[in-house]
Amino acid sequence: MIVTDTIEEARHFRWEEPGLSWGLVPTMGYLHEGHLSLVRRARDENDRVAVTIFVNPMQFDRPADLEAYPRDLRRDLDMLERETVDLVFTPGNGVIYPPGFQTHVAVEAVTQRLEGAARPMHFQGVTTVVAKLLNIIQPDRAYFGQKDAQQVVVVKRMVQDLNFNLEVVVCPIIRAADGLALSSRNVRLLPDERAAAPILFRALSAAEEAIRGGQRSGDAIRDLMRETIDAEPLAQVDYVSAADPRTLKELASIGDSVLLSLAVFFGSVRLIDNLLLESLDSGE
Ligand code: AMP
Repeated sequence: MIVTDTIEEARHFRWEEPGLSWGLVPTMGYLHEGHLSLVRRARDENDRVAVTIFVNPMQFDRPADLEAYPRDLRRDLDMLERETVDLVFTPGNGVIYPPGFQTHVAVEAVTQRLEGAARPMHFQGVTTVVAKLLNIIQPDRAYFGQKDAQQVVVVKRMVQDLNFNLEVVVCPIIRAADGLALSSRNVRLLPDERAAAPILFRALSAAEEAIRGGQRSGDAIRDLMRETIDAEPLAQVDYVSAADPRTLKELASIGDSVLLSLAVFFGSVRLIDNLLLESLDSGE
């Protein structure tokens, strides 16, 4: 496994054998089974796998969140070695944003809602760094988790609009046994907060059950999710949403598909989760 923090070395290794297919898994490190599910999928579908580990300051809206973001490169590299990853790119801030850097990638409409509304500039940070990583590694496929549902919509839009020559592969959300979606931020939860955190998935599941039971009012579904979270004293709702999975606009009435999503604070730790329901009209 080659580990490098320079663009030159990463590029050199990527192009050493030009005929091989490459999968790229961009991460911010502090890896868990969610990240590894992307790595394994990439391993299955490509000759070579690259993982990037970069805690991108540009996508953080709260300096304290960036500061507190967990990091453990040694542990990450051990995990990736076991997955037989070929290349790990671990650039420093100065490599990604050298002096004089002044170009950004901004996707418009779909970044205005949900996470984009709650965290202004977040997605500009994401699309800028993802565009750079795609240009540096030039993979055939790039792997993203459905955990960050809006990120998937935004990155797909960027790849299409800017004609990146690759396939975006979306992988399902990996959860703990109690339903909590795995996240690097989970380690920052205090024990009682961790015990309460499955409330996110319970709220999404309650909404799913109501929808499958015939409830099609967007407001009723959003209220149900909010009330479920509000019943947990340690949890504070940032937003709940029942939106069109393509435009991310809130739905007044739920039709064939809906993206249920929410963001909830436990103290200073902000967790997100979602459930994508499709083919609802076909009586599934
Ligand atoms: P991050 O390191 O949080 O930026 O995540 C890197 C990639 O892993 C993103 O595409 C995430 O959506 C994905 N990811 C994070 N957590 C999970 C999870 N629990 N299940 C599936 N994918 C995940």
